[in-house]
Formats: sequence, C-alpha cells, structure tokens
Amino acid sequence: MELICIVCPNSCRLKVTEGANGIEVEGARCKRGKQFAYDEMTCPMRTVCTSVRTTVKGFPVVSVRTSAEIPKDKIFKLMQMLANVTVTTPLPSGSVVLSKVFDSDVDVITTTDMEI
Ligand code: SF4
Repeated sequence: MELICIVCPNSCRLKVTEGANGIEVEGARCKRGKQFAYDEMTCPMRTVCTSVRTTVKGFPVVSVRTSAEIPKDKIFKLMQMLANVTVTTPLPSGSVVLSKVFDSDVDVITTTDMEI
C-alpha cells in the first residue's frame, strides 16, 4: 500500500507492507512518518476542522476544530453531532462548543474570535 505522510509539509511517499515481521515502512524520512503509517494501518486519526451555526450578529457560522485527533471512522458521527450545535453568544477563540466527544478528552473548540 502507498500512503502520503501528512505529518509535515515534506509529504513523503510511503510504501507500507504487512508481513511476518509486522508492518514495514519504506520512504519515510523520519520516525514520525513510520508512526503515521503504523497508525494509518491500525487506527487512523484526524483533526477535524469545520464550522457550526451561530445566532450572533455578523457570524452566520463560526469555525471550529477538534482539540486533538479523533478516530477517522468517528468523523461522520461528529459532523452529525455538530449539526445540532448553535452558538448563541460571542465567544473568544478557543472556546469549547462540544466537550469530551466520544467520552474522550477531546473537545471541539472555536478557532475564530467572535468578540468585537
Ligand atoms: S516521513 Fe517525516 S519528513 Fe516525511 S512527511 Fe512524514 S513527518 Fe515529514
């Protein structure tokens, strides 16, 4: 399998094989790429960036992101949850709009300063 490492802007092209010795990775310029490939093969994780609705004047939506990575297969469920979130007061950047998603330590936080 071929993967492009997304950990840093070098975008190394990784060749990943799974054999008797476990997962082997070629093409990574550093250890982080090998870890990325291993994680992609076992439990791929992503930081999610999106937006949620608000009722605040001048902000029909506000940009948000997860405070850390979540399992890739939970992204769709998270988007469904965020569709039900509406921010009703101006918030500073970094405010939590959804806490402890999937019973983890990950929150969804704003990435825009709505305070004027
Ligand atoms: S393998 Fe290392 S150098 Fe290459 S893209 Fe990944 S993090 Fe960057």
